[in-house]
Amino acid sequence: MTIKNYINGEFHNPIKNNWIDNYCPANGEVYGQLPNSDKTDVEKAYNAAKTAFPMWSQTSLEERSRILIKISELLEANLQRFAEAESKDNGKPISLAKAVDIPRAASNFRFFGNAITQFASESHESIGLKAINYTLRQPIGVVGCISPWNLPLYLFTWKIAPAIAAGNCVIAKPSEVTPMTAYLLGEICNEAGLPKGVLNIVHGLGTTTGQAIIAHEDIKAISFTGGTATGAHIAKVAAPMFKKLSLELGGKNPNIIFADCDYEDMLDTTVRSSFANQGQICLCGSRIFIEDAIYDRFKKDFVTKVKALKVGHPSEHDTNIGALVSKAHLEKVKDYIAIAKEEHAMVLCGGNEVTIKGYENGYYLEPTVIEVKNDECRVNQEEIFGPVVTIMPFKTEEAVLEMANKVKYGLSATLWTNDLKRTMSMSNQLQAGIVWVNTWMLRDLRTPFGGVKASGIGREGGFEALRFFTEAKNVCIKY
Ligand code: NAD
Repeated sequence: MTIKNYINGEFHNPIKNNWIDNYCPANGEVYGQLPNSDKTDVEKAYNAAKTAFPMWSQTSLEERSRILIKISELLEANLQRFAEAESKDNGKPISLAKAVDIPRAASNFRFFGNAITQFASESHESIGLKAINYTLRQPIGVVGCISPWNLPLYLFTWKIAPAIAAGNCVIAKPSEVTPMTAYLLGEICNEAGLPKGVLNIVHGLGTTTGQAIIAHEDIKAISFTGGTATGAHIAKVAAPMFKKLSLELGGKNPNIIFADCDYEDMLDTTVRSSFANQGQICLCGSRIFIEDAIYDRFKKDFVTKVKALKVGHPSEHDTNIGALVSKAHLEKVKDYIAIAKEEHAMVLCGGNEVTIKGYENGYYLEPTVIEVKNDECRVNQEEIFGPVVTIMPFKTEEAVLEMANKVKYGLSATLWTNDLKRTMSMSNQLQAGIVWVNTWMLRDLRTPFGGVKASGIGREGGFEALRFFTEAKNVCIKY
């Protein structure tokens, strides 16, 4: 399958004819190629976006909304095809792609198609000065959206939908590791009647295609989701050009479990929050802290449940853990398991590669639970981003709060307790952009989404995203 760039509503080969192999994680085989676009392709996309901008920015909200909702409906109508493509490209179980990734991509378009019609601006009467101020929310122009491989279409559309809803034209780059569903999205946009040049999708490596987007002087805002080191690089490149930046970066999220929680609910959700999508979700609770009183019980029950998870081919409907996204990522995760052993942590279950008959070269790893004695060890501090969690007991609220906050990241935190005072007090003090209490990854698209510290700057979601993708201009009229 040859993937092409989607520029000005048409599919193009890369100008310099450079291509990258696309691997299927389930069997380790190359099954297609994608462009490694460079700045000439980005310039072509920029010209298409720039040309489309005056018309698109003046298109009525009703019309923009209608097109976004049409894209959403077409994604829903193509659920099976998109879910199969996502699963094959990424290694995630087809059941997950079908229940979560593709429906959420459709929801992103529907949500922002509706939200833009409700996005009101402010006005302020300057009493005593005989003046009135009103704020215009104007689209920025041509904006860049760069996304990672873990939730490919889900996160790609989480940026594109608000950007175009707000009247911008977009140059978007999906991860080179998982380009397939972004490629298929181009056809859907054409079918939905999205005008040419409003969305342009360029494929390629971060260091070539991504770099050309972030370094382009006239791309005035970058919405990025990916690793913290890449985020820091983008911030450096963008700063002298005063680009607007939204950076959604890595995480090492605490999952804090008190003895007074609803135990069974906590246990099932903790298995999910640890290993969903092979643990490759920035929100996974990879550091589990358990109150002393229930530590031994939790350890036994959790390990039993984790051992029962089925590692299998992503296309099989009873697979719980599919393939990791790439060989390089598999090696990185295995290195961390080796580091844990060097640090004298105890691997309670998992830790080994899994060979699946017929797919011997696929990137499969057992879900792994590591008991650590010291919260400052590397596996407890560094983002592993795979099916690996640590567990550790705690005695007091103060002690667990200190450990939870003692990492460079601050994306999300999960708290299991039925004590109201503790809920309020800990939620206030946890250094995270999102705190879930007695649940995990329950998402309401109106809420602000993002992290603090090395997990990023800016917020996505709801009107926060529409604020990011617009410039506020105050007009003051004296009467
Ligand atoms: P990555 O940073 O390697 O790549 C992300 C994207 O950036 C890719 O499209 C890549 O090609 C591009 N890129 C790489 N170098 C670039 C450069 N110099 N200039 C411009 N673009 C460049 O991240 P990844 O490995 O694809 O994704 C995993 C990371 O993403 C993890 O750290 C994870 O926590 C994070 N993540 C964060 C969130 C969040 O919402 N905070 C969500 C999902 C994933």
